Amino acid sequence: MAKSFINFDANASHGVLPEVEEALLSKGLRYLNPSSVHQGGQYARALIEEARESVTRLLGLRGKQRVVFLSGATEANNLVITQALNLCSKPAPNNVVALAVEHPSVLIPLERLRTLGYGSVLIPPDENLSESFLSQCSPETGLVAVMLANNESGEIFSVSEVATAVKERYPHILVHCDGVQALGRTSFSFPELGVDTLTISGHKIGALSGVGALVIEEDTLIKPLLLGGPQEKHLRAGTENVLGIVSLGIACEVLYSSLSRRIEAMHSMRKSLLKMLTSAIPDLVVLKSKEHLPNTLSLRVPGVLADDLVVALDLEGVGISSGSACASGKPEPSHVLLAMGYTVDEAKQSFRISLPSSMSFSEVEEGGAAVIRCIKRMRAHD
Ligand code: PLP
Repeated sequence: MAKSFINFDANASHGVLPEVEEALLSKGLRYLNPSSVHQGGQYARALIEEARESVTRLLGLRGKQRVVFLSGATEANNLVITQALNLCSKPAPNNVVALAVEHPSVLIPLERLRTLGYGSVLIPPDENLSESFLSQCSPETGLVAVMLANNESGEIFSVSEVATAVKERYPHILVHCDGVQALGRTSFSFPELGVDTLTISGHKIGALSGVGALVIEEDTLIKPLLLGGPQEKHLRAGTENVLGIVSLGIACEVLYSSLSRRIEAMHSMRKSLLKMLTSAIPDLVVLKSKEHLPNTLSLRVPGVLADDLVVALDLEGVGISSGSACASGKPEPSHVLLAMGYTVDEAKQSFRISLPSSMSFSEVEEGGAAVIRCIKRMRAHD
């Protein structure tokens, strides 16, 4: 990768925060099994518990609310979604009610559950989310899943309203929230969401990849996916990813002390980038939502294929992503954009720019200039 690579694809991976890199190197971690009783193990254990404290503080956890470390948000989402088998008294078409634009790590486990007879209903991301969710729930529903912010559109959803409405009528339903994209880009606490479980991912906030956490109330009925050792209070067997967990803790510390400044910076970078792009490309279409992440722009240029733009920009050292997801080796239009009512052609022209919280204004300008250059060049060749 070129040294001057510009990461306009932070929702795919933020990039390791310099503070995280520096602090990781300073920890002198060499022995990596925190279950060992000797001093090597004890040192690793202490660092893991320190990291747990940092996540706890950032998310404002109280009382019996706990952090469980695991391999990432995919595992955390899988772990919760598969609980429908334990939470529902009998198979029904609406055992799970979930937002249609959830990440595949929520949607694909739902497909698996369907093969076992446990049905699910997908709710389009419409205006009145809590009413839509409520209208699909019944005593047979065991689980509701609603993400806090979408990775592609950047739209923020009213999770606390959904959770309150569902819990009021059906207190037995477990409400799950994928908070992956919201963490580090918006300010929220776990208690204010009113959900039972929340997933977060390390590499989306400047920590390493291959680590994430599930936040959970201690007495929630959750059976482990991985069986083996007693790690993470029997909820996640397997030797912990010590380096990853430590990096997640440090990233949470960094966010705890600088989140509002970072959110403000992302807002103004997004605003100036959008101004730059719209003045150079007047027919640029911006995907609008009631409330959106401060770092995400979902865009479309009529006649320009997003996959071609991704390649052209990569050659210029700028990483963006397109509105296509690679399914079975061939790019398919994104389920998110289709669920939002876009046509296949519009989805194929859609691309996403997502800014890391640590980006400088000069990088934004440099990246923006490359986007304009590539689009103009592609159009000139048509
Ligand atoms: N949920 C959302 C909203 C995401 O954007 C992602 C990653 O793209 C995931 C879950 C999966 O996260 P991880 O890479 O930690 O498995």
